[in-house]
Amino acid sequence: MFEITGETRLLSVIGHPVSHSLSPVIHNFFSKCAKLSFRYMAFDVTEETLGDFFTSAKTLNMAGFNVTMPLKEAVLPLLDIIDANAKAYRSVNTVVQKDGIFTGYNTDGKGFIAALHALSFAPTSGTALILGTGGAARTVAAALSQCGMTVIMASRRSAQLAPYLDTTYCAWNDLAQVAASARLCINATPIGMHGNSQVFASYDFLDALPQDAPVCDLIYAPRKTQLLQEAEQRGHPIMNGLSHLVHQAALSYGYFTGHMPEPDTIAEILAKI
Ligand code: NAP
Repeated sequence: MFEITGETRLLSVIGHPVSHSLSPVIHNFFSKCAKLSFRYMAFDVTEETLGDFFTSAKTLNMAGFNVTMPLKEAVLPLLDIIDANAKAYRSVNTVVQKDGIFTGYNTDGKGFIAALHALSFAPTSGTALILGTGGAARTVAAALSQCGMTVIMASRRSAQLAPYLDTTYCAWNDLAQVAASARLCINATPIGMHGNSQVFASYDFLDALPQDAPVCDLIYAPRKTQLLQEAEQRGHPIMNGLSHLVHQAALSYGYFTGHMPEPDTIAEILAKI
């Protein structure tokens, strides 16, 4: 039952800052639809208080928690078991607790792939152009190359090669040239995000990109960035960061509870938030 009872288990997201997080709304909706007795809350936790949080999670027998910025790497030494993907990415976004054993996973990459499938795009071949080389870009790049795509990441400065990434890099000035032979383009920079005043110097690369190639923005605030507006005007299918967020949450929920949210539930929460 969804009501709080003596058997209700606690789930949460930890990070700093965290009060803006949409995860409580998404996960509590999953529990409501599945009639499972979990409650999900956001806790502001810093690197300094992370050890205390793990102690509390054990004491309170929390079923699990999501991990967001800036703690995705900091949790690694506190885990008992780390799944292969999370270990390779050196990034954990999902922790499951069972009998005092903490296991870390990363659902960011698979969540992005699930979001692409929901857009009816199969990321199995061809080239993906990713703008940016930060944490989100690297996770998405690894997932796409695992699926069979060739990944090219655009960097404004000579990027540090991540050892687990089978990708090549291009200079920001070469975007249009690379886009001309890409099947997919993803913005993994904060350009266009609420509170970030940076803009793309030019949208030439969208003109060069084949028109049937989807343009994805990992940003979800605003829902339609300038990049997505420009892409839509040029006839590209578009996807914002919400679908990625909800699909990675669904995979986390599956780890926490053993119950994957139904596709209808995922579609319903996507339409609500
Ligand atoms: P990050 O680690 O700070 O990486 C940001 C990347 O953007 C870096 O490669 C950075 O280049 C590049 N960049 C920043 N400003 C730029 C500019 N003006 N021109 C060219 N490149 C620029 O950040 P992150 O954690 O990967 O997050 C990136 C974006 O993804 C954010 O908008 C975040 O909100 C979003 N995100 C969404 C989800 C989701 O669930 N939808 C999940 C994670 C992240 P330098 O290295 O040169 O600084």
